[in-house]
Amino acid sequence: MDYQAKIARNVAAIPRSGIRDFFELVQGREGIISLGVGEPDFVTPWHIREAAIYSLEKGQTTYTSNLGLLSLRKSIARYVGDFFDVAYDPAREVLVTVGVSEAIDLALRALLNPGDEVIFHEPCYVSYSPSIVLAHGRAVAVETSKADAFALKPESLAAAITPNTRVLMLNFPTNPTGAVTSRADLEGIAKLAIDHDLIVLTDEIYSELRYDGLTHVSIAALPGMRERTVLLHGFSKAFAMTGFRLGYACAPQPIIEAMMKIHQYSMLCAPIMSQYAALEALENGAPAMLAMRDSYHQRRDFIVKRLNQIGLDCHTPGGAFYVFPDIRSTGLSSKQFAMDLLEKEAVAAVPGSAFGPSGEGFLRCCYATAFNDLRSAMDKMEHFVQTL
Ligand code: PLP
Repeated sequence: MDYQAKIARNVAAIPRSGIRDFFELVQGREGIISLGVGEPDFVTPWHIREAAIYSLEKGQTTYTSNLGLLSLRKSIARYVGDFFDVAYDPAREVLVTVGVSEAIDLALRALLNPGDEVIFHEPCYVSYSPSIVLAHGRAVAVETSKADAFALKPESLAAAITPNTRVLMLNFPTNPTGAVTSRADLEGIAKLAIDHDLIVLTDEIYSELRYDGLTHVSIAALPGMRERTVLLHGFSKAFAMTGFRLGYACAPQPIIEAMMKIHQYSMLCAPIMSQYAALEALENGAPAMLAMRDSYHQRRDFIVKRLNQIGLDCHTPGGAFYVFPDIRSTGLSSKQFAMDLLEKEAVAAVPGSAFGPSGEGFLRCCYATAFNDLRSAMDKMEHFVQTL
């Protein structure tokens, strides 16, 4: 049978994740130091794991409301109100999802008609463009540059808007660059969204992980933006809960209702034990989260300093747990650099090109890795660069 002819065209059109492809090469090999997968090296704090265990002990093994446990939605609304300064009604404006991944998919499917354009800033998280294509939209990347510390500039956004643009996707702090954005730029972006009647999806998954005392401003909190913003957040990064698969969306009720309809038929609800764990994370998880953030901060300072010493020019990212050094001085493509580094020094990092064409010439290193491993990874990278 010609299976390719049986596969939906939009699925055939999307590539496999460049991160996963690269990490298949690493699978099963001994002694590799990985700066690869974007995942905390911490185990989920014990009191959060305990909440999941208690929920099982109490026999809480059922479906929940499609929207998620009301107690969790109330806690999310409180947290988002305090942290982002935006008020949402937990009964109608909060949807608990299976990670931010599901929330992105739901929002795009709920908002797009075939051919609608979605603008996002690039280099960006690997799922954005494929998720847009899977929702039958047209993905429009706006390149950000090292000169702007990979922040999205309103002028670049303005140039990409057409009469078919429906949605703008933002992610600050950004995966893979760690970029943050200034309030002034965010206000410029918000004005464009209002003038062109766009819906904004803001992926705030790294918003707690900011350094040097930077305050986080969500576009949802700017005047006139709450009504046109879908705020996406989750537990994977700041609370080290990737395996719990829990996220949420906050938005005006008609948008949440549309997302909930898809979620209801495709997922039904997020796992109940993860929801109880998330409730514990929001209610009592701040001290552990802040301790993890402080540890990432130290590691960021170390890795930025070492990369610059090695001669790989690296800006200091304001957030997330990634650095994005410029490897162009080596004359290698980002893929070649990453492959050779893996072969010769057993250090895994992701080629910048996995995050879109504008990531070429850069490497993504995740520094949520044990300090000793970071130190030897940098020594090995130094040796690799010296031998080029
Ligand atoms: N959004 C961004 C920017 C990410 O970097 C990631 C994971 O790396 C996700 C979403 C997916 O998060 P979740 O584990 O909540 O599905």
